[in-house]
Amino acid sequence: MSGKFRYCPYCTGPIVEEVRFNAVRPVCSACGFVQFHDPKVAVIALVEHCSRVLLIQRAVDPAKGKWSLPGGYMDAGEMPQGALMRELQEEVGLSVKIGELIEIFPMVNYDEERIGIVLAFEGEPSGSPDIPFVADDAQDAGWFLPDEIPSELAFESTETLLDSWKSSSPVWSGDGRQEPDVGNISHIEQDYK
Ligand SMILES: [Zn+2]
Repeated sequence: MSGKFRYCPYCTGPIVEEVRFNAVRPVCSACGFVQFHDPKVAVIALVEHCSRVLLIQRAVDPAKGKWSLPGGYMDAGEMPQGALMRELQEEVGLSVKIGELIEIFPMVNYDEERIGIVLAFEGEPSGSPDIPFVADDAQDAGWFLPDEIPSELAFESTETLLDSWKSSSPVWSGDGRQEPDVGNISHIEQDYK
């Protein structure tokens, strides 16, 4: 978040920019309040099932219409795994077991300023992999084999993680191996909205 207070949220005094704690920060000239820009923390999951990865098509900006790994912002008081389990439940109605931390990415805003971090975890469905619904901020969701991944991906973190996932996944097509039987997994279309 790059939003700055113009007036002190405690005493409504005018905010000025001054050096505090080794950086120029917004400071209240009346009561001395210092505004720290705390990092935003988001969590995303590479949820895998039968060699397929779960992707969500975004219905809102940023990156409206593009596909991304599921995830969202952490709330204060949450741990990353709990935040991801909540997001997966809210976004696509899936119960997911969260595994290892894969990587930590910088989070940037439209001006390419670093404003936080994105924690990426492994995950797998802890129950049925069927997707019962998609939330309002998504258009579609589905399970994708490595060679089915849409070209329109939303974020650099999604692209990076899917690239390394693809290079570590077996290739199912064209080499005589059978595709795994994954039951009636299919894309959720718009009519669920
Ligand atoms: Zn003040």
